Amino acid sequence: MNQEREQMLGRALTDRYAYEILTHLCDGIGPRMAGTPQEKEARDYLISQFEALGYEPIVEEFTYPLWESSGGGAAVTAPFQRELAAAVLGWSGNGLAEAEVVYVGYGRESDFDQVDVAGKVALLLNGDPPGEPELHRTEKYLRAMQRGAVGFLLMREVPCGILGIGSCGMKGGEISQVPALAITYEDGMLLRRFLEKGPVTVKLWADSRTRQEISWNIRAILPGREKPEERVLIGAHYDCWYNSPCAHDDASGVAVMMGLAKLFKELDPFRRSVEFVAFGVEEIGLFGAYAYAQQHAEDLRKVAAIFNLDGITVDGASQQVFCTGHRELREYIAGLLKENWPEIKATLEVNLYSDHWPLAERGVPGMHTIAWNSFVQTINHTPYDTLDKVSQVSIQRSLAWMSVLASEVASEPVLPFGHKSPEELKQIAAEHGVDRVLKLENRYHFE
Ligand SMILES: [Zn+2]
Repeated sequence: MNQEREQMLGRALTDRYAYEILTHLCDGIGPRMAGTPQEKEARDYLISQFEALGYEPIVEEFTYPLWESSGGGAAVTAPFQRELAAAVLGWSGNGLAEAEVVYVGYGRESDFDQVDVAGKVALLLNGDPPGEPELHRTEKYLRAMQRGAVGFLLMREVPCGILGIGSCGMKGGEISQVPALAITYEDGMLLRRFLEKGPVTVKLWADSRTRQEISWNIRAILPGREKPEERVLIGAHYDCWYNSPCAHDDASGVAVMMGLAKLFKELDPFRRSVEFVAFGVEEIGLFGAYAYAQQHAEDLRKVAAIFNLDGITVDGASQQVFCTGHRELREYIAGLLKENWPEIKATLEVNLYSDHWPLAERGVPGMHTIAWNSFVQTINHTPYDTLDKVSQVSIQRSLAWMSVLASEVASEPVLPFGHKSPEELKQIAAEHGVDRVLKLENRYHFE
């Protein structure tokens, strides 16, 4: 290991700065939902942090359809009456439904084929079927509506009264009249037990609406020494859900990104530029990243790669680098990780639900770094995604391996991977079985 890298790793593993960022985002500001004063507080905080590090941050405004809700609820109305603990899901329709419940399992297409949800309330399990590819709640909700369901109940797949939320629509647009609510595992199981005996009727409602709002991506650039026009992009989203300080998703990513901004500023410039982007409005539909991809459509060719640090770390969970179907990229990243971090796997996984995607779908080599296991699945988008889940050590460790990955991509004389053509992307989407999902969500652009 050369001396400069040793020094960089030493600083990464001892500097408290990134952890201080995490602490302030979680405990100092708290939930940073798009459209709230806390979102603006986080924006101003990050701008001032970039400035304090010696950057000249560029704030890029964008408009987006903000979805918001003033509440909702769910109750059993027959064969008995009972209120259910419920939380409104992002992009829930605005409306009231009272109808019989039909249980649809995880909500794969084949699950829907076996039942008839038309005119009914669809009850589904949250999460992915074990051992199967990701099945996002957006896909479940859109499919339920396509088949005529009048209400949507998403039960948590893990016990102990957890209400987890998240977005059910990725591209905004008109909201429907089909209320979508999260309920607990326990209430879901109660419904399922009674369904075995006969019809169960529930009433659910959500008061939600959309309006045009503005938000901001915050960029800071560290110029390269030989190819300053080429840049390595490091991104993380500073917004989160209304119910959680979102330590893992994604205060951890913002913290590591800011840690890299500090660390790299103290080193000699790399060959390429490094661009840090704090994305706005990821959670309700990747609106910040889509705005970035659109505003920079002309110079995206110059983005050598994007590292999207969404949910990069949480204590006790193994980390991965998803390489979005890009084989040469995966090989290169795996090679960098092999020596010191063999437990961090670089995979070909294609994730459509985070900020690398709007750039990756335009050909940019896109990576998503993520820590995930059943515990993370349990706390994700719940009030329990708190600072105590992410220790200083796990932040510093992530800073260390990310500093190697990003600095290598920024320094490499000739990169062994490049942009993908629409034809190649089309193939990747088909290979990974995400083409049908993209079409369902009206996000398929490869033909
Ligand atoms: Zn996230």
